[in-house]
Amino acid sequence: MSEAASCDVVVIGAGIAGLTAANRATQFGLRAIVLEKSAEEQYRSNSRYTYGTFHIHFTGVEADEAELTAKIETATEGFARKDLARAIARDGRRLMQWLREDGVGLVNLGTYNTNVLSPAWRMGFGLTWKGYAGDVALQKLEANLRGRQGRLLRGARASTIKRVPGGIEVDTDGGNRFRAAAVVIADGGFQASLDLIREHITPAADKLLQRNGGTAMGDGLRMAKALGAKIVGLENFYGHLHSRDAMKTDRLWPRPYADELAAAGIVVDESGHRVADEGFGGIWLSNAIARLPDPLATSAIFDQAIWDGPPGTGHVQPPNPLMLEAGATVHKAGTIAELAAVAGLPADRLQRTVDAYNAALDAGALQSLTPPRSGKNRPWPIGTPPFYALPLCAAITNTMGGIAVDGDGRVLDTSDKPIPGLFAAGSTIGGLNGGPHAGYVGGLINTVIGLRAAEAIAAAVAK
Ligand SMILES: Cc1cc2nc3c(=O)[nH]c(=O)nc-3n(C[C@H](O)[C@H](O)[C@H](O)COP(=O)(O)OP(=O)(O)OC[C@H]3O[C@@H](n4cnc5c(N)ncnc54)[C@H](O)[C@@H]3O)c2cc1C
Repeated sequence: MSEAASCDVVVIGAGIAGLTAANRATQFGLRAIVLEKSAEEQYRSNSRYTYGTFHIHFTGVEADEAELTAKIETATEGFARKDLARAIARDGRRLMQWLREDGVGLVNLGTYNTNVLSPAWRMGFGLTWKGYAGDVALQKLEANLRGRQGRLLRGARASTIKRVPGGIEVDTDGGNRFRAAAVVIADGGFQASLDLIREHITPAADKLLQRNGGTAMGDGLRMAKALGAKIVGLENFYGHLHSRDAMKTDRLWPRPYADELAAAGIVVDESGHRVADEGFGGIWLSNAIARLPDPLATSAIFDQAIWDGPPGTGHVQPPNPLMLEAGATVHKAGTIAELAAVAGLPADRLQRTVDAYNAALDAGALQSLTPPRSGKNRPWPIGTPPFYALPLCAAITNTMGGIAVDGDGRVLDTSDKPIPGLFAAGSTIGGLNGGPHAGYVGGLINTVIGLRAAEAIAAAVAK
């Protein structure tokens, strides 16, 4: 182990949360070092792949603070920590202003996409990131950091954090040691670790589509836990429903996805039974499907009206026609019985499931179904031929749970007390997204906590 290099703040992970925290720290005159485990110039991460919309539960960040706080509360059914919810609701717009002032481009694409990293990519299918949104933002933030005498070290995987008198030390795999007053963990979560997914989300981890940068292995979670951190909400993840063929081809992810089709119609397993409440939408359905014995055995069932209507065509990158153009398997037939035959589903059972659903919809009795169907996403009848069966897979973009923090990113111990010098930000934190139906508040918006963590560290160092 080499002698410790010393600075004020060590940041673990050079995604948007880590680079924001480091840049903000340097604005207070703090010396910041960012450790990034990947060695490539354009290292992969979720921030590199992102579509770039900063939103708070699908609402623009400029909405009223009280309204945003209430949205977070409702979306997570009371799960979100109140201090985190308030911090996000209050400072979302301040983060946008800070990014703009730092030269990070944001465009307004309407509805809740009022702040989207620029240039935005909203065309066709498959994975495109070079020269767009997150890629450009990361390059700009890295250049700014260097301009402020901060350092970003590539190929530097943090492996251990320990508290030492007067500060905190981080060791890397390569045998380097860094000493600082504070450490910000911003490693992105644990979605790429099949072992951790198996332990906390589903035994069938290898049957989820990895819809992410492939770099978040749960290092931050492990290191924080070793220092006594509280860990919250690990069972939920943010993700989408995709054509099952996406397990084999990059043409079918990250878009188009099938969330709206599934939420308008029904989702059945290989026995023709519905598997979950479709009304809670694609993120919840992804979680519910992930927990089935075989997550690769469900299909979305819908009709021509759904395929031609807003659920099929309303998204900016819509499944109709992009699924077909990208080569996804989409079964189609004139009757439910014929559809069952081509899709390999039991005809009698599928017919009964569709009939029961249509009858309950007609009678206004969707709650009486097993499982019940709630009204959060509009249920459509399945009655206009031809009928469709889309074989699905559940995709994991990022984990929702993680290291418990307060509104300033201070990592909390199991008694809810801050662990001195230890902070976390970005999608490695827990306590904001989640709850009984995997309520989604947002991904990029967790960057607010990076901004606030740097400000809290600066205040502590100044004292
Ligand atoms: C295709 C796609 C589209 C998305 N679109 C949106 C969107 O429109 N809106 C939205 O809100 N969210 C979106 N998200 C989610 C959003 O991009 C993420 O929530 C956000 O980028 C996470 O940022 P982060 O900095 O926390 O983590 P990351 O971007 O994952 O960065 C973490 C970094 O830490 C590094 N690292 C990991 N372990 C170590 C270690 N031990 N030592 C050193 N470095 C380490 C990794 O290599 C990585 O570079 C999308 C995600 C994807 C994949």
